[in-house]
Amino acid sequence: MQQGNNEGEITPPDWVTQDLLPLNEYSRPGEDLPQVNGVVVHYVGNPGTTAEQNRSYYANLAETHETYVSSHFLIGMDGTILQCVPLNEISYCSNDRNGDTIAIECCHPDETGQFTQETINSLTRLLNWLIEVYDLGPEDILRHYDVTGKECPRYFVQHAEEWEEFLDTLTFPAP
Ligand SMILES: [Zn+2]
Repeated sequence: MQQGNNEGEITPPDWVTQDLLPLNEYSRPGEDLPQVNGVVVHYVGNPGTTAEQNRSYYANLAETHETYVSSHFLIGMDGTILQCVPLNEISYCSNDRNGDTIAIECCHPDETGQFTQETINSLTRLLNWLIEVYDLGPEDILRHYDVTGKECPRYFVQHAEEWEEFLDTLTFPAP
């Protein structure tokens, strides 16, 4: 059986639940992620779904072959953080930036795409950890919108000033 590449794998903190997808070409191709130059934030676009349900959707793509999609992390409305893809492998979420970014998908209660406070708290904690591990700056924390112009994550595209305020709450290394 094919194995993922464990070399250079970074172990997440214990507040992250690792539930890796099985290797499959639709959501976890097992391709190397040689460098990380940024993190891309998404919304799942499917209101009311949990992190576990979205992980199952990714996993089932191995059978359904519906599309190619996955993210390294899923954050639930209750603040749960699930890791689906190891940090040294690519996920399928951010188009041209799949090859050098980590992807985080966030769940949301309704069509506005606004995240719960629990989700924001976990997103902040996870981003602060990734910023430290990869030595990232504010310009490296992207919305999917910043990569492709897609309305994702919807609330932070429609409320760009709140995205800027959110970035200001993160902890970046001193220049
Ligand atoms: Zn997206």
